[in-house]
Parts: sequence; structure tokens; C-alpha cells
Amino acid sequence: MHAQFETPDPILPETCFCTRCTDMFSKEYDIDIPGKTIPEISGHILSSHEKEWRDWRSSILTAWITDLKQILKSHQPESLLGLFYCAWYPDEYDSALYRILGIDINDFVREADVLSPMLFHHMKDRPVSWIGEHISWLDSLANKVSPGDKPAIWPIVQAHNTPEEVSPEEFREAMLQGISSPAGGIMMFSDRSLLDDPRKIEVMKELYSNSP
Ligand SMILES: [Zn+2]
Repeated sequence: MHAQFETPDPILPETCFCTRCTDMFSKEYDIDIPGKTIPEISGHILSSHEKEWRDWRSSILTAWITDLKQILKSHQPESLLGLFYCAWYPDEYDSALYRILGIDINDFVREADVLSPMLFHHMKDRPVSWIGEHISWLDSLANKVSPGDKPAIWPIVQAHNTPEEVSPEEFREAMLQGISSPAGGIMMFSDRSLLDDPRKIEVMKELYSNSP
């Protein structure tokens, strides 16, 4: 499941209609899919069984996470399971988070020890304040979905100069938004962008040495 999400205007492809995927879907839901070519098969699935198709795709992703969690905890019970993922709100782009990427954010909240939404404000053409707003929204969702066992929130914010410069001041503001409560940690993207601009290294040093 894929989409080009680091942009305000994402390409949202419908995937995957290969024989392996459509056979698995057909068996699991006991649905006959008429047609031979991929356009015939995909057209039938999307027009007659869209809900089942979206649910099945999402269930594959969630099952993958629960399998990984089980493997991780059986070998290293002290390790945390972190999920890095596209930070669209569930209702944006006609529900593309679930519809295209197969991400059931409620499942992510239930399964993860740490959630790391990729809050790349500049690439997505959002104000820096969107970072803090998204974190607050995610925390309130976690309060509803998994109140006794909330995941930690360690967002990733953008230092990278794409599509044009993120100034050291803007990077500083993005870090401050990203580390604000209820977030419990922060990462930034990318190392390269800090090496390219030593002023950003200074910003990061100052923030890490002054944070509790
Ligand atoms: Zn496939």
C-alpha cells in the first residue's frame, strides 16, 4: 500500500490488483470476481465490493503489525514497538489514510508502544502550528481508543530543505511544536540537512540540552 504523501497534492493509486492479492481477497471473503484483465477485476472489486476490499487491505497491515509485535516481544520483551507513518488526518483526501494506505489509526493506537507520525509541515505546505495540533489530536484519540494503555508520541519533524529552505528559526519552531506536551520525545528528518546547515545543529543542541 503506497502513496506519495510528502506533498500537499498527493498521488493516490489504487493497489494492488495482482493475481496473488485478488485471489487472497476472493478466498477470504468468499467472493467470486468475474473478469480476466486487471481493469475488469479492479473495476468489479471497486464497484461491487469496495468496503470489503478496503477492510481486507487494512486487516493485512494490522496483522503484519501484530505479528511483528509478537516476534519483537518474544525476543526482546523490553523493546518498544514504534510505528512511523503518514500523518494525514483520517478525513483528509477523501479518507485516503484508510482508503489508500490501509491505515486504521485506531489499530495503530492499540498496538504501538510509540507512535511517530511524520509531521513534515513544509513538504505538506502546512503551518508549523499544525505539528502541535496534530499531536494534540492524536493524544485525544488515544484517550478514547486506549485510555489505560496509551502509546507514547514521538513525532518526526522536518529540518530538510524541501521543497525550499526550512530556515533554522522555522526548524526551531517545528522542534518546539513537536516536543510540546503530550509528546514525550522527538526526532527530526534528516541528518543530512543538519550537516548542510550548522545553524540547525546549534538549534538542536540548544533544545536537547535545555529539555528536561
Ligand atoms: Zn498484489
